[in-house]
Amino acid sequence: MRLPDIKAIASIANKEGVALIVDNTITPLSISPLKLGADIVVYSTTKLIAGNASALGGCAVFRAINDGEDKFKTSRYEFMKKPIKGAGKMALIPNAKKRALRDLGMSANANASYQTLLGLETLALRLPRIVQSVEIIAKSLSKHGLNINHPCLDSHPHHERYKTDFSQGCGTLFTIDMGSKEKAYNFINKTKLATITANIGDSRTLALHMASTIYRDFDTDTRKFLGITDGLIRISIGLENPQDIIDDFLNAAE
Ligand SMILES: *Cc1c(COP(=O)(O)O)cnc(C)c1O
Repeated sequence: MRLPDIKAIASIANKEGVALIVDNTITPLSISPLKLGADIVVYSTTKLIAGNASALGGCAVFRAINDGEDKFKTSRYEFMKKPIKGAGKMALIPNAKKRALRDLGMSANANASYQTLLGLETLALRLPRIVQSVEIIAKSLSKHGLNINHPCLDSHPHHERYKTDFSQGCGTLFTIDMGSKEKAYNFINKTKLATITANIGDSRTLALHMASTIYRDFDTDTRKFLGITDGLIRISIGLENPQDIIDDFLNAAE
């Protein structure tokens, strides 16, 4: 739940001549990394863009290569010389295609692409609804005494950045720390509304206990470093009525 200062990172990357790639999977439309100085933006379209776990996919968006001075034309990026020569401003596209399509064999299947494009059509409607719900729910659960981590809360270290750089929201996620594994399991078993699954950015609300799933094979020190406590549950808010989610979560937390 930390919010990066993308502008500051981009300025360091530009000074040092290194490419800045931003994974914008969870903040499509809310954040425009290319405008903030990123070179490449990648998305797992499996999440918010497809919208309902119906299709696996991904995409990459590239900035134009500038004439004259450009960090991709330095010796650090020598390997891009050939595609750059042929393609001018669009040089990053043939480069990625060569690596991903030719060398690794990646391609999107037709049905998944169709599902993804259907999802994309409604993204602009779904996203504002979800980020608004996330704020309403995080604030309400926090007020009711649950240990919520989300930058919309005054207590969050990135609350100021949330208000300035992330005014369109920061995605679908927040966490609840139930204090112990037993309490977390109890919550997850009692919720009637959340689906227990590892996906995020779904039209349905999802919940997952972190330490026993995604971080199961991480050692104790690494988990501690990452803030993965025994009671931690990750929530991805969906399109349901926010008050229904609040009621269900308060009941599950009892
Ligand atoms: C899920 C996810 C990925 C991987 O995407 P898949 O479509 O599952 O391969 C990459 N980045 C982020 C932030 C994700 O949430």
